[in-house]
Amino acid sequence: MKKIEEPSKIIPVMTETDVLVVGGGPAGLCAALAAAREGVDTVLVERYGCFGGVITQAIIGTIAWYRYAKTVDAGGIGVEFERRAKEMGATINIIGNIKNPEMVEVLEQEGLMVNGEPTYEVLETEIFKYVADVLIQEARITPILHCSAVDVVIDNNTIKGVITESKSGRQAILAKRVIDATGDADIAYLAGAPFRKSPKNELMEVTVNFGCSGINIGKFLMYIYLNRGSIGDWGETSGKEEDTFSTYLVEPFNRAREAGEIPEDVTIESYWTNYTDAGEITSFNGIHMTDIDCTDVWDLTKAEIEGRKRVMWAVEALKKYTPGFKKARLRTIGSSLGTRESRKIIGEYNITEHDVRNEARFEDSIGICPEFIDGYGIAILPTTGRYFQVPFGIILPQKVENLLVAGRCVAGDRISHAATRQMACCTVTGQGAGVAAAVSLKDNVICRQVDISKVQKILKEQGVRIE
Ligand SMILES: Cc1cc2nc3c(=O)[nH]c(=O)nc-3n(C[C@H](O)[C@H](O)[C@H](O)COP(=O)(O)OP(=O)(O)OC[C@H]3O[C@@H](n4cnc5c(N)ncnc54)[C@H](O)[C@@H]3O)c2cc1C
Repeated sequence: MKKIEEPSKIIPVMTETDVLVVGGGPAGLCAALAAAREGVDTVLVERYGCFGGVITQAIIGTIAWYRYAKTVDAGGIGVEFERRAKEMGATINIIGNIKNPEMVEVLEQEGLMVNGEPTYEVLETEIFKYVADVLIQEARITPILHCSAVDVVIDNNTIKGVITESKSGRQAILAKRVIDATGDADIAYLAGAPFRKSPKNELMEVTVNFGCSGINIGKFLMYIYLNRGSIGDWGETSGKEEDTFSTYLVEPFNRAREAGEIPEDVTIESYWTNYTDAGEITSFNGIHMTDIDCTDVWDLTKAEIEGRKRVMWAVEALKKYTPGFKKARLRTIGSSLGTRESRKIIGEYNITEHDVRNEARFEDSIGICPEFIDGYGIAILPTTGRYFQVPFGIILPQKVENLLVAGRCVAGDRISHAATRQMACCTVTGQGAGVAAAVSLKDNVICRQVDISKVQKILKEQGVRIE
């Protein structure tokens, strides 16, 4: 690759803070809220124009779709998101307008409904942009949008801040503690912390999500009822999930392929997540593209453009071959590609497949996650009440001091990623990182030496279940 030398220059310090959180997805939001609520100055930096990460950028409102009648989870800020969103009219009741008693019975049997109430509601992802703003303002966090962290300020292996690029130019933000919630471990990588990344052809697929309007929901639900998909359609299950209801929809796309309207080598299989009384299905998660490295700008560009082409094919197939879709229109395309996997830090502890499959317990637990694996052809749902504990060691990178990492890039092996990447788990690692950063500051110790019993006590006070 041809190279040029970039001249060094003196740049302004945009702001200084106690805790800097980079990335405003589920993990970053929780990290910033948890730190600020412990009374430390907190800045939250996000490269796009709204907070929420995959929720608001890729239209994924199913923060709690894992929840069944017997599921236990950590609570904390993840559950607060749902509660506050509901209070602000930013949720959609997934089964609210199902009147068909047979379908209600199915949902009750599945554990998706208890005493006529749904076990979870889907976030209305457009309004969640506003919900996140309100939560940030209430907690007196300093928000910075449209600003990318592109380098680190580091001294003697201790992180001191980041360099940013925005319309205001190249500037620094100095911080006593930094939390990397970029999803891709950008900050840990730039700071020289060890990480791993699977070969490109083994990374999880990326997705351009879309929504439709103008649907006759009654007709569509009857079609779904008569052509019920199940979790067994996804891949290997633990047995109990085999016949569990799933919104897996593939027939219209297969028919379009057979008719030569979708190329032979393109697979479209969609999970649709929620519908509204206004005749919308707000999110189709069906365009899955492999062999894309989401830390490579050429790959990102290719996937966005190819993804949108496939969305157009998918909408045409839905209109032509799906009952209820005759008058349907494309409503939205996610403002960014949805990405599932890239760099994972090598942590003080690296959580394993064995841990997430066997209810692991840890002395340094910062929360719990229901036994839930979704990825690499495995689908295990938390229908039983089984759960694993999330250790502090997976958010603590090696070599770099005063840096914590939260969200999908925490330390762990390939299969454990299919558990820790879930938004519920990202909220746990985010909240844990925020509290740990605040405690280490107040006690004047580096993050690696934080008193974990103090962190656990505060997490409990913040409503997190850690045992
Ligand atoms: C299509 C799709 C469907 C999914 N469905 C579900 C589901 O139904 N349920 C579920 O629980 N999980 C689901 N997941 C997984 C889950 O959404 C993600 O793993 C989770 O959002 C990761 O959270 P995060 O906070 O770590 O990262 P993200 O949500 O990716 O947030 C990272 C944030 O950091 C910002 N950022 C990145 N780099 C920088 C930088 N250098 N400077 C400044 N800002 C930066 C990004 O813009 C983004 O806002 C899905 C994922 C995808 C892609």
